[in-house]
Amino acid sequence: MESHLWKNLDKLKDAVRGKKILLFGPPGSGKGNRSRDLEALGLIHVSSGIALRAKVKEDQESELSKNASSYMERGELVPDEIIVPIIMDHLSQEKCQKNGFVLDGFPRTKAQAEALFSKIKIDLALYLDVPRKFLVFGIIEGKRRVCVECATGYSDFDPPHIEGVCDKCGGRLERRADDQVETIENRLKLYDKQTKPFLPYIKTQTTLEILPITVSDKEEIIKKHLKTLKNHVYWVETDEGGKARMLNLEGMRERLYNLLGKRFQ
Ligand code: ADP
Ligand code: ZN
Repeated sequence: MESHLWKNLDKLKDAVRGKKILLFGPPGSGKGNRSRDLEALGLIHVSSGIALRAKVKEDQESELSKNASSYMERGELVPDEIIVPIIMDHLSQEKCQKNGFVLDGFPRTKAQAEALFSKIKIDLALYLDVPRKFLVFGIIEGKRRVCVECATGYSDFDPPHIEGVCDKCGGRLERRADDQVETIENRLKLYDKQTKPFLPYIKTQTTLEILPITVSDKEEIIKKHLKTLKNHVYWVETDEGGKARMLNLEGMRERLYNLLGKRFQ
């Protein structure tokens, strides 16, 4: 039986205030949705993708913008010299220092990680562990759609109450132009090659906790917290070759809040 300390949301908010949390995981592992959950506790969301797009929009004619866009359009990583100062600028803002933050999409290279840890003490890194099978399947077969206003992600496994409309903010839901099998596989390859290898380094710099999306056979869990497809509990093939059930948006929020409650209370 998991603890339900977090059911006292105000207590959990107090406990995580000012904390600096890093989200780590492959594309499609739910970093966006976990960021929303952490934002709901009062942390400031800093996303490298959003920060980059904002920077480019600010002055489209600048050398920096043109240079960054060319990488982003190809789905390649923007050079460290560009992204590092942008993110460090964000993180040094008073609101991030005061409220704490959740950093999503950064670091993605060892050099970025070194730049970050040399300046800021991170309280916790969370690794979002999602079976490989689901990363592509969930996005493609589940028809991932994202809120244009608040970036909450939905799919046929986690459908919104009203199709096309965000449960959270009423914003319009859209498919992402780069959610194609080939692009996703490319983004996954990039992750395997450039990002995943420095996970052991992260462990030397902060506490790394794994947040699995799967539910073990032994665990008792209510259906309301499970991913279903057409009303049936969905079973995924795990990386080890077994089968497992998976948590949905609500189930993952519960698991995340439990973990934070245990760690910080
Ligand atoms: P995705 O998770 O699909 O890659 P993002 O919105 O996080 O989408 O990022 C969009 C693009 O911005 C990436 O394809 C990449 O070009 C660039 N980018 C984002 N974060 C970083 C980073 N930490 N280092 C280098 N480039 C980045
Ligand atoms: Zn929304």
